Amino acid sequence: MKLFRFGAPGEERPGVVLADGRHVDVSAFGADYDEAFFGDDGLARLAAWLATASPPAVPAGVRIGPPVRRPGKLVCIGFNFSDHAREAGVPIPEEPVLFLKAPSALAGPNDPLVIPPGAEKVDWEVELAFVIGRTARNVPEAEAMNHVAGYVLHNDISERAFQLEHGGQWTKGKGCDGFAALGPYLVTRDELPDVANLAMWLSVNGELKQRGSTASMIFGVPVLVSYISRFMTLLPGDIVSTGTPPGVGMGFNPPQYLHSGDVMEWGIDGLGEARLTAVSPR
Ligand code: ZN
Repeated sequence: MKLFRFGAPGEERPGVVLADGRHVDVSAFGADYDEAFFGDDGLARLAAWLATASPPAVPAGVRIGPPVRRPGKLVCIGFNFSDHAREAGVPIPEEPVLFLKAPSALAGPNDPLVIPPGAEKVDWEVELAFVIGRTARNVPEAEAMNHVAGYVLHNDISERAFQLEHGGQWTKGKGCDGFAALGPYLVTRDELPDVANLAMWLSVNGELKQRGSTASMIFGVPVLVSYISRFMTLLPGDIVSTGTPPGVGMGFNPPQYLHSGDVMEWGIDGLGEARLTAVSPR
């Protein structure tokens, strides 16, 4: 199944992309895609409901929101692609580098990106993210995939000066509103059983910036679930973003950053595409 959410920000309703490509409104199922939904076997119940229901089509051109409603947390992995670590001039990590992104940063995949006031180094990171389907606490690797509901396209947008030039950790540069562009949809694990070699790309104003593959990932999904669950409980609906391939703006010489009016597009095989325009603060 492919799950998406649509409608005005904060008022999204749940939808499903059917096998024939039709986008349908499944509000009548009675649940949004949140912690309660994933934690209560919502994917299986929704699939069973769909087998007999005739949900209406979603109007064309409607806004697409993030496919998960306000997750408890977004856990991100730093320098998880060997080619990106080389680009950044850092050694290959011996253990996964973890940081958190504010859930309030979540945005739909095509929402305008409002450049935060004072921001001059807004950067991009196309990433494969996954959504937790079952509570994970001290999970062994061999059982890790039982805790994953599915995958989703993510752009881990970052402000490099906020991240690196204001002291402390990376948090300041990762959690601004709109800095977690998620979607278009969540692809359930049964529909994408192998994510070990997916092509990833990102362009700005039509010029390709990032091109890579999940094959360059250092720590794969089962390792990450198991590893993170040693340090914190992963709850249903939580999102884990697995790191970015080379070609981030900071890696260019001289560096390249997003400015008002720039159009950014990105995608991963099997997870769809996204496109947004950067705009000035209002
Ligand atoms: Zn990232």
